[in-house]
Amino acid sequence: MLKTSEDTLDPSDWNAFRLQGHQMLDDMIDYLEHLRDQPVWQPMPEEVRHSFQQALNDGQHDLKSAHAIFMKDVLPYALGNVHPGFMGWVHGGGTPVGMLAEMLAAGLNANLGGRDQAPIEIERQVVQWVRELFNFPETASGLFVTGTSMANLLGVLIARTALLGTDVRHKGLTADNRQLIAYTSADAHISLVQAMDIAGFGSDALRMIPVDEHHQMNIAALELAIAEDQKIGLTPFFIAGTVGTVGVGAIDNLQSIAELCHRKNIWFHVDGAYGALAMLAPDIAPRLQGIERADSIAFDFHKWGQVPYDAGFILVRDGELHHSTFASSAAYLKRGPRGMAAGSPWPCDFGPDLSRGFRALKTWFTIKVYGAEKLGQVISNTCALAQHMKLRIEAEPRLELLAPVALNIVCFRYRSTDANRVNADIVVALQESGIAAPSTTTLNGQLAIRAAIVNHRTTTSDIDALIDATLALGSCAARRACS
Ligand SMILES: *Cc1c(COP(=O)(O)O)cnc(C)c1O
Repeated sequence: MLKTSEDTLDPSDWNAFRLQGHQMLDDMIDYLEHLRDQPVWQPMPEEVRHSFQQALNDGQHDLKSAHAIFMKDVLPYALGNVHPGFMGWVHGGGTPVGMLAEMLAAGLNANLGGRDQAPIEIERQVVQWVRELFNFPETASGLFVTGTSMANLLGVLIARTALLGTDVRHKGLTADNRQLIAYTSADAHISLVQAMDIAGFGSDALRMIPVDEHHQMNIAALELAIAEDQKIGLTPFFIAGTVGTVGVGAIDNLQSIAELCHRKNIWFHVDGAYGALAMLAPDIAPRLQGIERADSIAFDFHKWGQVPYDAGFILVRDGELHHSTFASSAAYLKRGPRGMAAGSPWPCDFGPDLSRGFRALKTWFTIKVYGAEKLGQVISNTCALAQHMKLRIEAEPRLELLAPVALNIVCFRYRSTDANRVNADIVVALQESGIAAPSTTTLNGQLAIRAAIVNHRTTTSDIDALIDATLALGSCAARRACS
């Protein structure tokens, strides 16, 4: 039993609690220090899965034993994205500093919806850093959200207000005769499709423009689609360019999109979920030219920024418009010139969330402790590792590259007459081996082994281990002999 004082949830014996807390902290520090001794991932035994199906009142209430369950049944069966061998999807690795910052934030239990408090100044500090990073004006606004999926949705909603005015908030979309159309590339993230759906336009109002051989949105096709829509009386209102497509890591031609948006008076949104933070890396930032002309940028600190989940962000050039898209008044949210209700506008005026956690703190700690330069080096390094992997693939006759390597994502496969089946088997065998964990994608009907190098802990030896294991597993997969 955790002995609590009679009337509260606080411990009655703070010293015993302190000892247990130190043990929990030590266990997590040990875990991070010795990550490499563990498999990236391992399948969860059925008895562990079933152990999480107990009744609400199981009668056990004890911090020490709850922690023991965490250590035995949760920690070993997490996805492993903290591990240097993890290269699946686009997952961040987190940091020890971020972990400690999360503890401080939890202790403070701040609600960053609003009111006059230092935690909100920390969020404003990060907003200011973000403005500086993207060369946005002082009047630009920013907000922490869960992730880029949410930030993309906010981008669509703000663009809608830009065109239809704030009336749309009361009258709805049908009050205006115009039918609004959005554009993005065929390689764009599914969250943009969902954003159009959730915002009420319907996903059919999103045109998926074909990509060229570099997987960049085809600008001529984009212009054509806009012209055709205009000809039949539709109203183009939103174009999303991507920095770092989820499939192969392509960067759309932002300058051309910015130019087109300017000419046609269309909102220019950038989905830079993981790629936008490449602005921190001096060798890659020039390839993002044009991003400074965006009307809104959605990105995640929890991917390439290495901040623990979750820490999504939206930056909006026109802060006033952003505010007018979401701000509402309610008696219990009344602002004051002094006292705790001062400090308006509040973060809750810039998005749908009222209660909000202190995502800014772990981000502030990460930038403050590691520094922007070091974080940029991590980003450059993951791209250099991708080039190393590309060279190894090109030097190996049994492997072939399936897409250009623009940033940190490498798509390749093991050559085989039965390639789709064999490569799918290789990826599962790799994941179950615990050595390295790529995921898959499909490019022109071909199943690719897809390695996204995001984690600051990944080194050349992890890349080599992935390639070596792929070769070893490839021959057994071809014979259907991988156990
Ligand atoms: C990861 C990703 C998203 C979604 O971001 P979440 O933080 O997972 O919501 C959107 N777009 C791209 C390009 C991504 O890589």
